[in-house]
Amino acid sequence: SEVFLNGQFMPAQAAQISVMDRGYLFGDGVYEVIPVYAGKAFLLAGHLARLQRSLDGIDLKNPLDNVSWQTLIQDLIARNQGGDQAVYLQITRGSAPQRDHVFPPAVLPGIFMMSNPLKPIPEHWLKTGIDAITVPDIRWQRCDIKAISLLANCLMKQQAEAAGAQEALLLRAGRLTEGAASNTYVFLDNVLITADTGPEILAGITRELVLQLAEEAGLKVSLRMATEAELHRADEIWVSSSTKELIPVTKLDGKRVGSGSPGPVWQDLFQRFQNKKQEVQA
Ligand code: PLP
Repeated sequence: SEVFLNGQFMPAQAAQISVMDRGYLFGDGVYEVIPVYAGKAFLLAGHLARLQRSLDGIDLKNPLDNVSWQTLIQDLIARNQGGDQAVYLQITRGSAPQRDHVFPPAVLPGIFMMSNPLKPIPEHWLKTGIDAITVPDIRWQRCDIKAISLLANCLMKQQAEAAGAQEALLLRAGRLTEGAASNTYVFLDNVLITADTGPEILAGITRELVLQLAEEAGLKVSLRMATEAELHRADEIWVSSSTKELIPVTKLDGKRVGSGSPGPVWQDLFQRFQNKKQEVQA
């Protein structure tokens, strides 16, 4: 595949960076994942706005304006033959002559972008739902920044994998923040509960859309973290992300969620999600 590295397109095998890059040494950088349907980036404006917020959060100047980002992303998609893709882009604080925690005075940020075919969502995930486990949210206190330093997320996701589950739902002080790589929704007593934006969660672009669809569906929404007790009493649980859309969780910590099958409210929102994809891409 063709990737973009520091101003140039090249084959992935040719892309190399310095071991002194602060992304490599410190995880000092931010990223975005943007879904592409039929060759067109989905909800791109939201992703670029969040990228700016992440950059502001780590005090790194955006190396490009949004029109340039748009052009580069379109070019990358075309060079990878269009269709359904997932664009990954990251910006690091670049390299300095020496390893020093303090920012180097003159920084030339490192820009890397790649795009891979979007993995289709397994049919049975939609038919029967996925399994999830709860784990302590061991991340730092700026989860609103989409930072490339994802060690905690990797550890928690691996814990889910080892338990035969597909996602880890994260508990901080007895409350559900989000998933290891997703936002989370609890539908209980006819109310949709999802964490409000803030430092404890990543403001998912898919979450924004789900909330818009929930409003269109006339659902009652409570923007707060569900308690662990509510989570275990939930009628429905869902997770959302750019590459997974909206997935029902039907087993939590080995026990069935609600009826044990994807629920009617998920069904309705999932359908609305598909309609929105069609509409926006048309
Ligand atoms: N929360 C975390 C921790 C994530 O890693 C992700 C994305 O993978 C999300 C939420 C969902 O965000 P988005 O819908 O913008 O992909």
